[in-house]
Amino acid sequence: MAAAQPSYIIVGAGVFGVSTALHLIKKYPQASVTIVDRDQHDADTRVAASWDWNKVVRADYDDVVYCQLGIEAQDVFKSDPLWKPYFFETGIFWTCRDDYADAVIGNYHKLGRKADLKSIPVEEAKKLHGGVFGDADYNGVKSVLINKTSGWAAAGDCLRAVTKEALRLGVKYVVAEVASLLFNEDGSCGGVRTIGGTNIEATHTILSTGAYTPKLLELSAEESGITRLRAGDRIVAGGITTGMKVLDEDELPTYAAMPVGVQGYTAELGPFIGSLPPTKDRQLKWWGQTIFKNTTEVLPGRHVSAPPERPEYNQWKISKKLKKDIEHARDVFYGTKSKSWKMEKHRICWDAFTTSSDFIISPHSAAKGLYVATCGNFHGWKFFPIIGKYVMQMIEGSLSTELADKWAWDRERPDPKDFADYPRHELRDFEDNRAKL
Ligand SMILES: Cc1cc2nc3c(=O)[nH]c(=O)nc-3n(C[C@H](O)[C@H](O)[C@H](O)COP(=O)(O)OP(=O)(O)OC[C@H]3O[C@@H](n4cnc5c(N)ncnc54)[C@H](O)[C@@H]3O)c2cc1C
Repeated sequence: MAAAQPSYIIVGAGVFGVSTALHLIKKYPQASVTIVDRDQHDADTRVAASWDWNKVVRADYDDVVYCQLGIEAQDVFKSDPLWKPYFFETGIFWTCRDDYADAVIGNYHKLGRKADLKSIPVEEAKKLHGGVFGDADYNGVKSVLINKTSGWAAAGDCLRAVTKEALRLGVKYVVAEVASLLFNEDGSCGGVRTIGGTNIEATHTILSTGAYTPKLLELSAEESGITRLRAGDRIVAGGITTGMKVLDEDELPTYAAMPVGVQGYTAELGPFIGSLPPTKDRQLKWWGQTIFKNTTEVLPGRHVSAPPERPEYNQWKISKKLKKDIEHARDVFYGTKSKSWKMEKHRICWDAFTTSSDFIISPHSAAKGLYVATCGNFHGWKFFPIIGKYVMQMIEGSLSTELADKWAWDRERPDPKDFADYPRHELRDFEDNRAKL
């Protein structure tokens, strides 16, 4: 079934898939590299977590590995003409309720990286940027991390441009929903079958399917009988709500030069909340604090969390309860002055989570020729320029032991208790009550 020359099918055109395709085709210009995604890469709306108005780009991590990778990615954003137009170095303003600021600053020192970052007292922070965060919630805040070298990216525009570049270099793009994986007689993976019944074959199949990954593996396990394909507790699909407000012309000057805002909490208090500076359409964006699973019976007796099936993961249908979550996020940044703001747009965005918040970039142990490269854990976008290099190293067996262990399919997984963003709720608990007849 599989061709003799190495060939690559990448399922999923989010940042993990597209970055992998780009790095592969740059290193092997003659290789057959095909991305398969259910959405056109330039569609007006997509289900990918990577497709968004904007995303935070930072190296402000207390984990030194992601700090280093964040710096590496930012160096590309700041210097490479392909990436540069999409990155905005606005700085970051991060309220810390624990020692996060010190840990980040310590990591920059450890890595020998000079950058304009510091930890400052609350009263000093309140006055910065014309007092844009003067009315924020500082309850329990120990210090505020200011990193002038962090910022944000126009995520959807960047994803579209980089995919276009990959296609120009020879990557093929097939619009189709993958129903299942294909297996050769020796049990190795030989490609994918689409819901239209078309087989697409390759020697290497890479799943960069984000939140849909556990469901796809479940369906493939059922069809092939290879039960070890299942993700089990390795990957959980989680959703979170975002909301946007369009600023009036007269409001814009107050927010035009603002940094990215982050409200940091301890794992006991809950997930961190972010507020991004206005887009070119004057839209301010927040994300909420409620992160939920959608556990459903995907096959008789088989329950996994997966994005809703209805068109587009039902991402535009937001309950009143989840809109409240966005109002809370608005209030903790802007206080009373924002109470009258009308939120114009809401979206639920689905990502894949692991208990440690580490990615999975690894061969799948149940089938030769099958690889997993996803699990952004709500922080994966910023690595877009470089993550494909590491996926390629993983495929070639040259990934450092440290990263191979951190991102392994089979590894000891910690209890998620210390991971504040881990999905702890169920979507159904936030549905609006239906009228009783
Ligand atoms: C609300 C929100 C805010 C975030 N903010 C940030 C941030 O500020 N900074 C940051 O760094 N990260 C952020 N993230 C995380 C980041 O967006 C994700 O970690 C990252 O985009 C995941 O990329 P991916 O390629 O794994 O998956 P995705 O981008 O979700 O892509 C998966 C692709 O696979 C396709 N697919 C799935 N199943 C199939 C199938 N069966 N057949 C065909 N196609 C299929 C989908 O259509 C999709 O295009 C945020 C995430 C969310 C949800």
